[in-house]
Order: sequence, then structure tokens, then C-alpha cells
Amino acid sequence: MHDVIIIGSGCAGNTAAIYTGRAGLKPLVIVGHEPGGQLSITTEVENFPGFPEGVMGPQLVENMKLQAEKFGAEYISGKVAEADLSQRPFRLKIDEEWHECRTLIVASGASARWIGLPNEQKLIGHGVSSCATCDGFFYRDKQIMVIGGGDSAMEEANFLTRFGREVTLVHRREEFRASKIMLERAQANPKIKWLTNTIPVDVYDTEKGYVTAVKLRNVKTNEEWTQDVDGFFVAIGHIPNTQPFVGQLDLDPDGYIIGHGGARTNIPGVFHAGDVEDRTYRQAITASGAGCKAAIEAERFLESEGH
Ligand code: NAP
Repeated sequence: MHDVIIIGSGCAGNTAAIYTGRAGLKPLVIVGHEPGGQLSITTEVENFPGFPEGVMGPQLVENMKLQAEKFGAEYISGKVAEADLSQRPFRLKIDEEWHECRTLIVASGASARWIGLPNEQKLIGHGVSSCATCDGFFYRDKQIMVIGGGDSAMEEANFLTRFGREVTLVHRREEFRASKIMLERAQANPKIKWLTNTIPVDVYDTEKGYVTAVKLRNVKTNEEWTQDVDGFFVAIGHIPNTQPFVGQLDLDPDGYIIGHGGARTNIPGVFHAGDVEDRTYRQAITASGAGCKAAIEAERFLESEGH
């Protein structure tokens, strides 16, 4: 029986582990299919306070884990196959084994949706990115391409014009899913060039080890061509990792946890932290802050229950 189980080993989960560990709660952290979360697939992080020279994303998240382990956190790898939150203790099936806990912190994040191009995964962190705020700075005066037609794509394209020489926004249809205001703002930006009815076919160059060009196809004419780019930003949405909690935790139509004040969910003793609830900020520092809040709430909950 664990006092706290934390699902997720990104900034939110690790920070929750540091705090609950330091409170003597010996948290068990479940490391899922993306160990270290989104930071583990970025390169340099320059906006996490405390690192004036910047820090590599994987290093930052590993440091957090070491810090949590120092305070007694235990990490195990596995997939949360099932969850039973209908009664306490809560029960989680991790791979084949059931674990029980008095409190649960869901910090399982939201995974960037990728297009599935043959070379896409190989070039993540080397020109392929899903986070303009994280990586835009590295593309000063460069050619940038953004894929998507929703608010994220508009926001990222606008943001990236601060850095890039030119930003080409590529969308698979004529109509945009983005809200009118976000679309109009992007359309008014002279540094954004538009390619509609167009999809990327692949991104190059894996031999060089960084992005140099993208092959595109017009879906109406089937014409294909290759365009030189340095940064390839995929902004086609995120998928919150809440599958085991469907029908138990309050989720919005896209699957994000609906918060019930602070770090609380609809189930007393179950708390959320990070991108699994936050579709707005999605930053390492906000996820860490959320992990801290969830840990403090879990600790107080246990105290109030006499543990
Ligand atoms: P989204 O609204 O689901 O839009 C995803 C876009 O990506 C759509 O245009 C979609 O095309 C395209 N897409 C999906 N799969 C694709 C694929 N395989 N290949 C090419 N294109 C693909 O996602 P989002 O933009 O991340 O926004 C999610 C939510 O967050 C929305 O509710 C949004 O309003 C909100 N948000 C708000 C703000 C803000 O207000 N500041 C900023 C960001 C996000 P189709 O249109 O053809 O389906």
C-alpha cells in the first residue's frame, strides 16, 4: 500500500515526487511510454529559471528524478493498463501487477500528435519540433514551416515570426479550424506565407542529422515538390494520456482532466498535475508548479485522513 502513486515522470510528476518524497511519503512514480515527458525530446531549455546558461531538456528532467530519488521516491516502468478509482485504496494495474494507493497524482501529460512521416521521429530535436515556445529561439533568421490549421498552428506561426526569416504555414484543407481572431491575426502577419490543400510527405535530411527540406504534396493536384526549411513545427494537436480514467475522472470532450479547484479532480484523493489538465500553458515550469501543488494537496489530504 502506497501513500502516493504518481503517474508520469515529466516535470509535473518529478516535482510531485520531490515534494511528496521530502514529506516522507515514499512516492511510487510510474514511468510510462515517454520517460521524462516532453522535456526528454527537446534539446536546450533556456527558459527554466535557475539556468542562466540554459540546460539540456533530458538533463533537466534527469536532475529532477535524481533529486526525487534522493528523498526516497521509487521509479518503476510500466503502462497503466487499468485503474479502479471507485473506492479507496485506489487500485492501478501496472502491466500485469495491481498496486494500491491512498492518494493518486495523475501527471501523465499530453503527447504531441505527430503526422507519421517516415523521417519525422528521427529528426525530433534536430529541426522537428512540437513546441514553438521551447525551440523557436533556435531559428533566428531561418526558414520555418508550421503544420496545422487550428489555434495552436496560428499561435505557433505568429510566435515563430519573431525569430524566423519567413514562416510557411501548411494546412491540409482550404478552411481553418482555428478561431476567427487567431486566424485573422496570423493572416495579418506579413511574415507568414500560406500553403493550403497541402500536406507534408516527408522531412529531410537524416543523413546530415538535421532538417534541411520538406517534401510537400498538393492534395488537389497531386503535384509534389521539395522546399528548403530549417525548422519543421508540427502543431496538429495533443492527446492527453487519460485513457485508463475514462468514465471515472471528469474529462472534457478532448480527454483533458477537468480540474475541481487547486489540483483536485472530481474524486477526493486523486489529483492532477501538468499537461494532462493544462491545455493552455504547457511549459516545464508550469508543469513543475502544478506538480508541487498536487503534492501539497496529497499531503494535506493524507493528514486530514489521519495518516
Ligand atoms: P485542433 O484544434 O484539433 O487543430 C488541429 C489541426 O491540425 C487541424 O487544423 C487539423 O486539420 C490539423 N491536423 C490534424 N491531424 C493532422 C494530420 N495528420 N496532418 C495534417 N494536419 C492535421 O488542435 P490545436 O490547434 O492544438 O487546438 C486544441 C485546442 O486548444 C482547441 O480547442 C484550441 O482552440 C485550443 N487552443 C487555444 C489557444 C488560444 O486560444 N490561445 C491556443 C492553442 C490552442 P483539420 O482542420 O483538417 O482537421
